[in-house]
Amino acid sequence: MITPNNKIALITDREFERKHIPPYPRPSFFSNEHPIRIKVVLDYLEQKGFFQDERIRIEKPTTVSEKILRLSHSKYNIETIKRLSNFGQGIIGEEVFITKTTFDLAKKAIGGVIKAIDLVLNEKATQSFALVRPPGHHATKEKSSGLCIFNNIATAILYFRKEFGYEKKIAIIDIDDHFGDGIAQYFYEDPSVLYCSIHEFDFEEGDIGFISEFGDGEGLGTNINFPVPMGITDGDFVEFTSLIEPILKQFRPDLVIVAAGFDMYWSDPVGNCLLTSKTYYDFTTWILKLARDACDGKIVFVLEGGYSLTGLPICVFSVLRALLGEKYEHPESEFVDFSMLSKREEVDKIKNVLQRELSRFWFLKY
Ligand SMILES: [Zn+2]
Repeated sequence: MITPNNKIALITDREFERKHIPPYPRPSFFSNEHPIRIKVVLDYLEQKGFFQDERIRIEKPTTVSEKILRLSHSKYNIETIKRLSNFGQGIIGEEVFITKTTFDLAKKAIGGVIKAIDLVLNEKATQSFALVRPPGHHATKEKSSGLCIFNNIATAILYFRKEFGYEKKIAIIDIDDHFGDGIAQYFYEDPSVLYCSIHEFDFEEGDIGFISEFGDGEGLGTNINFPVPMGITDGDFVEFTSLIEPILKQFRPDLVIVAAGFDMYWSDPVGNCLLTSKTYYDFTTWILKLARDACDGKIVFVLEGGYSLTGLPICVFSVLRALLGEKYEHPESEFVDFSMLSKREEVDKIKNVLQRELSRFWFLKY
């Protein structure tokens, strides 16, 4: 039976498809983090009849105050974004552009994540999906970075810690193509937050998100990085979920947050991997089962990266289908089979090293 309490919540706002527009065609700057990302997702969901589905609850986010921003970001960082937004434009740090609407929209993105968590914790939705932008997982206390303005997930968690005394355990699973260095830094010494990230890693030139970053102090063992070579396929991704499954079962989170980046998708112009939407569907089915066993299924998805304008809507839809417990078939546009290009051997090696190292902190059979 459908009641207000067993719905899937989608938190979004048409403002996300209109504001914070990258300042191209200036030749000095190009960004794929564009409002059209949200528009194509909403249009696709509409075409699929998603908004008529009574199992879905649509909610709008509220814009958070600067006081909430101060929980996670330095005054100087906040003032810099505000100043440049008031000025009307700017480019700071690594691939961070500012427009006159950036400051407000970034505050609304955090509001979206807060609402997504609130609905799930207060049993007004079984799971939720914050379809927001700009993304957040690279942003640190002092610095906006990698297309991210403020750290949406970290700010939301710190808000619930501070305002409601919510101290229960949270598992963050970051499936974006890139290492969520911002989130990892916030909780590196915090034993109550387990951060697990799979990310493309440059094994030739080095990268951030090393295999050996396990957290520190009381948080030792609660930071898990699974770096993978470029070009991984659907079959390779499963090695990540099988590695973290026993750890999640032992950690027993009260809430699971998925940093849902879709830039490992095969046609993504930023990431270099070869996943199809089947992986995102299977991943969601897998995490749903684990979360049901651990924490009544409480999962919050938060959009991070994902820049293929044809792939992103399909990936988001596949996640929602899995949350609804519906079957999923590849759309016709996704005709590809990359299994011949598997990186299984390399991924297995990384997994074996990780299992050996992580068995210092968790009971793992390998
Ligand atoms: Zn990314």
